Amino acid sequence: MDEDTRKRAADLLHLRGQGLSKGDPVALPLVSSSMFHLPGDPDGAAAYGRIDNPTWEALEHSLSVLEAAPCIAFPSGMAAISAALFATLKAGQTLLVPSDGYYVTRLLADRFLSPLGIRVVERPTLGFSDGGFEGIDVVFMESPSNPGLDLCDIRAIATAVRSTGGVSIVDNTTMTPFGQRPLDLGADVVVAADTKAPGGHSDVLMGHVATRSVALQEAVLDWRKMSGSIPSPHAAWLLHRGLETLEVRFDRMCQSAQIIAEALIDHPAVSTIRYPGLTCDPSHELAKLQMLRFGFLIGIVLDTKDSAEAFINGCRYFRPATSFGGVHSSAERRARWGDDVPDGFVRLSIGCEPVDELLTDLLRSLDQQTPGLDG
Ligand SMILES: *Cc1c(COP(=O)(O)O)cnc(C)c1O
Repeated sequence: MDEDTRKRAADLLHLRGQGLSKGDPVALPLVSSSMFHLPGDPDGAAAYGRIDNPTWEALEHSLSVLEAAPCIAFPSGMAAISAALFATLKAGQTLLVPSDGYYVTRLLADRFLSPLGIRVVERPTLGFSDGGFEGIDVVFMESPSNPGLDLCDIRAIATAVRSTGGVSIVDNTTMTPFGQRPLDLGADVVVAADTKAPGGHSDVLMGHVATRSVALQEAVLDWRKMSGSIPSPHAAWLLHRGLETLEVRFDRMCQSAQIIAEALIDHPAVSTIRYPGLTCDPSHELAKLQMLRFGFLIGIVLDTKDSAEAFINGCRYFRPATSFGGVHSSAERRARWGDDVPDGFVRLSIGCEPVDELLTDLLRSLDQQTPGLDG
């Protein structure tokens, strides 16, 4: 871990403590109030629950330390993505989205932005720069892409987009601020689903937008106030609590993923494996340049839909569930949602279980899918 990251991780755990008076609770109070005591002229004091909430503010403070940028919290990753897009796009403009990224972002663009007069263009993450960025107003990247785990060069693309006067947005959900820092690579805006690793316990949906541009920050905040897309105080409280252990969970998850990916490379039931930390991965060189860690997601391809399903169901320690980033490992065949991946493609999300147990479990279930190996 580099010095900056170490400092951020340590600071995060003492943000609240620095401001306490004798007798104050060390843990963050959960404040649930739509009304605030407000006699006389409003003078910037907390006024109303759609605009102000002390629990969100504490959460946003934590997020802003992680991102080293002001952050605005939203009730889900998609709410954060919607805010970033509605705050940056106008009728007549063009939006570029990855054709192989999180599919709901594409659905949002097609079903709600196109009808408002925004031209939506799609490109695969691999080769995202092909064709350049002239005439594109907002460029939305996802790297590594979910679920295919392809990468695009965030620094090069952000620089090119800035030079043509556009805005770059990066969905950093798969990496978290401990794994990749798109704002430091030059991106204008980061969006993330904190539902995943930051929450980490599969009990809350949340998201956030981070940006160092004051104008974009104001636009996103206005969007939240006026659209009413606000997080519940309880969800904000849960995410605040989750963030306090993100660094230790993420570290374990990435370390385990590397060990597991290396152990699966040569397994006869696995025809293809994708993990940015493998030296044989097509994205490895770029990953080393722009990522601090290689993440906790692994993509493997088995022969058929049936063998992939049997493999997932044969694992004891991988929940057959959609979503990822929780303390409990999970596995999912993504073609079931129509993602453009082979029928036998399985996305593994490595959790916090001891890695030897995970490895034994995976290898046993994979062996059962290997003709001649099943006992
Ligand atoms: C899950 C996910 C989202 C959406 O997050 P929600 O909290 O489910 O709305 C957005 N982008 C990526 C890359 C995701 O994996």
